[in-house]
Amino acid sequence: MESLNSLNPFEMAQKNFDLAADALNLEPNLREMMRYPERCLVVHIPIRMDDGKIKRFEGYRVQFNTARGPAKGGIRYHPNVTLDEVKALACWMTWKCAIVNLPYGGGKGGVACNPKVLSMNEIEHITRRYTSGILPIIGPQSDIPAPDVYTNPQIMAWIMDTYSMTKGYPVHGVVTGKPLGLGGSLGRDEATGRGVFYTIESIYDSLGLQLKDQRIVVQGFGNAGSVAAKLLHQSENKVIAVSDSSGAIHNSKGLDISRLIEHKAKTGSVLEFEGTERIQPDEMLTLECDILIPAALENAITKENAPRIKARMIAEAANGPVTPEADKILFEKGIYLIPDILCNAGGVTVSYFEWVQNEQHLFWDEQDIYGKLEKVMKNAAKEVNRIHRNRKVNTRIAATMLGVSRVAEATRLRGLYP
Ligand code: GLU
Repeated sequence: MESLNSLNPFEMAQKNFDLAADALNLEPNLREMMRYPERCLVVHIPIRMDDGKIKRFEGYRVQFNTARGPAKGGIRYHPNVTLDEVKALACWMTWKCAIVNLPYGGGKGGVACNPKVLSMNEIEHITRRYTSGILPIIGPQSDIPAPDVYTNPQIMAWIMDTYSMTKGYPVHGVVTGKPLGLGGSLGRDEATGRGVFYTIESIYDSLGLQLKDQRIVVQGFGNAGSVAAKLLHQSENKVIAVSDSSGAIHNSKGLDISRLIEHKAKTGSVLEFEGTERIQPDEMLTLECDILIPAALENAITKENAPRIKARMIAEAANGPVTPEADKILFEKGIYLIPDILCNAGGVTVSYFEWVQNEQHLFWDEQDIYGKLEKVMKNAAKEVNRIHRNRKVNTRIAATMLGVSRVAEATRLRGLYP
């Protein structure tokens, strides 16, 4: 059985790389250079908790590849964070940045902690001590963190402050996803979900389908899932079910997403939203629908539930929500998959816009940002779909091939140091 514990996420990422490298006929020397992280840092984070006791957490920062530019990628606070998970996520960031053609490499960070049981004060102290631990390897020209699961603009502000206080002058470009009042970019908060929407629009267009009156299911109602749901709802599609970590709700006539966002902000969960019935989260994933959007964590769709999935398309707003075994099953069922490294690249794309604005000390308006984001996402989606069709490989391999080939080109051009 494909037990979740036996799925080492980094081995999964390497397996995907191997498949793409095979399809590209990548030379063995380049494989040897690109298959492993460049740098992994593990930091010890002792914190004085609110009750006066000292508790120790463990944090990580991985720079997977910097052939195309500084390492770029978010920081995750979650009890299940491990070094192998961070390595996998940093590997995916490398291909992701290359797919949308940003001048970045890939990195990722994480702290094994449960922010749901920590106070703001404790989270601030974890953030500052973690930042101080990874300070020797981050910086606007070397490695630029950003938000990820359970981290937010306030946490990015603390990272910016800790880094700046140590340097002795303000350094806005060391981190993206900052609050607007501290050099953040307009549109960054909506960027991932908006990117998911543009990618779906683009693929519908390539397939000659109309993105209207479609039934949508969204697993995970955080930053990415709620925005994608809102934009799909606004363009006359029906979001028939959503879930978050507390459970799942359903109404076959469609949910009013703006009101659901307000309900979640007020009550802390999607449950008990008027006019909906509660269903089992696994039952939700296997509902009859047109587009299923896994927007929570890894391994949501496995060998166990994949055979029962009835969606026509899966758009991976989360990182790694489908296991490799499930991938095969979905492919055989003819379900069109928009892979994570393409689908959720809108977040890092607007992070790049934020960094460019910081480096140039100027601000772009929201329409400018959305226009540029739409162009980047749609070009990347068309390119991945083209490789998928011409090379007859599944869309995940097609996307990885695009990312890997761009990183390989930079690696070849730079040569081997020393
Ligand atoms: N955490 C996001 C991702 O997985 C965004 C990373 C970034 O903005 O650097 O793509």
